[in-house]
Amino acid sequence: MPRYEVTIEKDACDGIFACLTRDPRFVEGEDGLATIDPSADPIYDCEGEVTDTAERVVAKFDDDRIDEAKQAAAACPTDAIIVEEVGK
Ligand code: SF4
Repeated sequence: MPRYEVTIEKDACDGIFACLTRDPRFVEGEDGLATIDPSADPIYDCEGEVTDTAERVVAKFDDDRIDEAKQAAAACPTDAIIVEEVGK
C-alpha cells in the first residue's frame, strides 16, 4: 500500500468545499476552512494521523485511497491541497 501525505495550506483555502464531494475525509473545520477527519468517511473505516495547525493540515495515510485525495486536490480551485507519496 502506498503511504502518502495530504496537506491543506490554510492560507490558500477559501472554504469553497469542492474537496468534500471528492473525498469524504475532507470536512469543514471549526475555522470554516477545510480539515481532514479520517473517521468522517461513512463507508470506509479509515485510519490516519492528522496534524491541524494555524498554517496547515497534514494527514498521513497508509491505504489505497490516494486517488480520491488526488481528485480532491484536482477539484480545489485554489490549489490548496497537496498530495504526495512518501515511500512504499
Ligand atoms: S476545495 Fe480547496 S479551497 Fe475549497 S475547502 Fe477544499 S481545500 Fe479549501
